[in-house]
Amino acid sequence: MFVSEIFLSIQGESTYAGLACVFVRLAGCNLTCSWCDTPYARGVEGARDMTADEIIAEVKGFKCGLVEVTGGEPLIQSGAKELVEKLVAGGLKVLIETNGSVCLDGISKKAVKVVDVKCPSSGHAGSFLIENLGFITEYDEFKFVIAAREDYEFAKDFLREFAKDRAAEVLFAPVTPGLDPKDLARWILEDGLSVRLSIQLHKYIWNGERGR
Ligand code: SF4
Repeated sequence: MFVSEIFLSIQGESTYAGLACVFVRLAGCNLTCSWCDTPYARGVEGARDMTADEIIAEVKGFKCGLVEVTGGEPLIQSGAKELVEKLVAGGLKVLIETNGSVCLDGISKKAVKVVDVKCPSSGHAGSFLIENLGFITEYDEFKFVIAAREDYEFAKDFLREFAKDRAAEVLFAPVTPGLDPKDLARWILEDGLSVRLSIQLHKYIWNGERGR
């Protein structure tokens, strides 16, 4: 597998936000989101070619019980599901973040899938693979990165139409920088939505520094 970086940080998103977490960032992506905050991971240039066992050995070196497999889009690499399986078998709590455009079938049920459904401002509204709804469990999380009111309305419609009561959590995250979190907070409160406002904690701490 092509690996962009492996590092220890504070989990900045999801319901695991605030916990120490090892990130395995696989290289390569099938999308080109307009506000992508990891453009260096969209291609494989400069990435290390590693086996699942080599990745796991490096992860275990950090002595941290929480690991997130992310990207790029991790699932475009054929070994990603095996990597998740082996990390779970190794006793780690595993999150996998995906853009939802690649089939989720075959991912360990013990891993938490954080599914980032793309909104219109990303340039990829409609990229979510609708069959993936069948693979979302009550332990998984939907995430919507929101840059404008149009994205917010899209996310609300998606939840109403497809995702109600399907996943454990729904995260609404403002694009940083881009949308003032106060605006998103106000919209959520005005509509009485049962979603979690997700501020990217790692950016608050390290201001978007790479490897954090
Ligand atoms: S899916 Fe993620 S890595 Fe790929 S372009 Fe979009 S934000 Fe960047």
